Amino acid sequence: MTLLAIESSCDETSASVLTDGQILSNIIAAQLIHERYGGVVPELASRAHQQHIVLVVEQALAEAKVAKTDLSAIAFTRGPGLLGSLLVGASFAKAFALGLNIPLIEVNHMQAHVLAHFIKDSPEQNVPEFPFICLTVSGGHTQLVRVDAPLDMHVIGQTQDDAVGEAFDKSAKLLGLPYPGGPLIDKYAKLGNPLAYPFPLTDMPELDFSFSGIKTAIMYFLRDQTRKSPTFVADNLNDICASIQHTLVQMLLKKLTKAMRETGIRQVAIAGGVSANAGLRNSLLELGAKQGWQVFIPKFEYCTDNAAMIAMAGYFKYQQHEFVGQDVSPMPRMAL
Ligand code: ATP
Ligand code: MG
Ligand code: FE
Repeated sequence: MTLLAIESSCDETSASVLTDGQILSNIIAAQLIHERYGGVVPELASRAHQQHIVLVVEQALAEAKVAKTDLSAIAFTRGPGLLGSLLVGASFAKAFALGLNIPLIEVNHMQAHVLAHFIKDSPEQNVPEFPFICLTVSGGHTQLVRVDAPLDMHVIGQTQDDAVGEAFDKSAKLLGLPYPGGPLIDKYAKLGNPLAYPFPLTDMPELDFSFSGIKTAIMYFLRDQTRKSPTFVADNLNDICASIQHTLVQMLLKKLTKAMRETGIRQVAIAGGVSANAGLRNSLLELGAKQGWQVFIPKFEYCTDNAAMIAMAGYFKYQQHEFVGQDVSPMPRMAL
C-alpha cells in the first residue's frame, strides 16, 4: 500500500509518501514569515499553507517516484492546531481523496509525534516495545503519555499552563532573540555554564507540569541585572541560556522519573520539537543509563513538525481500516 500524508497544523507545510511502512519522502516547507512578528500569526500561516501545499505535495510524490494513481489512501492532520492552518491540509486531503476515490484517514498530531518513533530508516533500527512512556514536548504541549499500542495512548500527566516549547520561546524573546528561540537557546547553552544562575523549579501535584512561573522569574531576574549592568544579557548570553535550559530540562526529567517509578515501565521515548534539544537529549541518555531504562530519541528530522510522522500514524490506522468520510472537519482542540 502507498499512502500520502499531509501536515499543516501550525507553521510547517509538509507532505510525505509511505509504502508498506517505509518513508519514501518527507518534504517540509517552514514559514519564515513569522520571525519578524515574534510568533506565529494564524492568518499569515494559513495563507502560506495555501501557497505551499501544491508544490510540497508534488515534490513529495516526485521524490518518492510515486504517481497520484498509485496511492491507496490519504492521511492528514485533523488536530490539534490552528483552525485556518488545519483547514488547508484537511480541504486538500479531502479533495484529493474524492478525486482519486481512495480512503481518507484523519490523524491526531500529538499521536503522530509519538508514532514518529516507528519510522525505520534502516532495518536494524530499534523501535520501542509496548508499553512505553513518551514525554512529548512541543510548542503547544507537554505531556507524559503511556503508550500501550500504536493507537492506544493515555496522557498520565501534562502542563497546567504553558508548554515547555513556549517557555523556551518566551524566554528567548525576553533575551531579544528571534522566533522560534528554542533552537537558539540550545545553541548558546552549549557554550555556557548551566549552574551560573539558579532559577527556581516550579512544581505541580502528581505528574503535571507548570512552566509559566519560570518565564516570570527570568523576566524579573533580567530586569534587576540590567539595572545594575545595561549590557548584562549581551555579556552573559551563553550562561543565561545554559541556566534556563538546565532548569527546564530538570523540571521535565523530574516528572519523567516519577512516571517511570510509578508505572514500573523501563522503556522511555521523547517526542516533539523540544526533543531536538541537546541538553534534554544528553541528560536523558545519562539518566537512562543510570536508571537502566531503554531510551529512544528521535532523529532531528522527526522531532519538529513533519508529515512522515503523519504517514506513520496513517499507516497504523490504514491497517485497522480506520477511515473517515468527506464530512470530517478539523479539530483545533483534539484530545489524544
Ligand atoms: P504542537 O506539536 O504542540 O502542536 P508545534 O507543532 O508548534 O506544537 P513542534 O513543531 O513540535 O511544535 O515544536 C516546535 C517547538 O520546539 C518550538 O517551541 C521550538 O522552539 C521548539 N524547539 C525546536 N528545536 C528546539 C531545540 N533545539 N531546543 C529547544 N526547543 C526547540
Ligand atoms: Mg513550527
Ligand atoms: Fe507539533
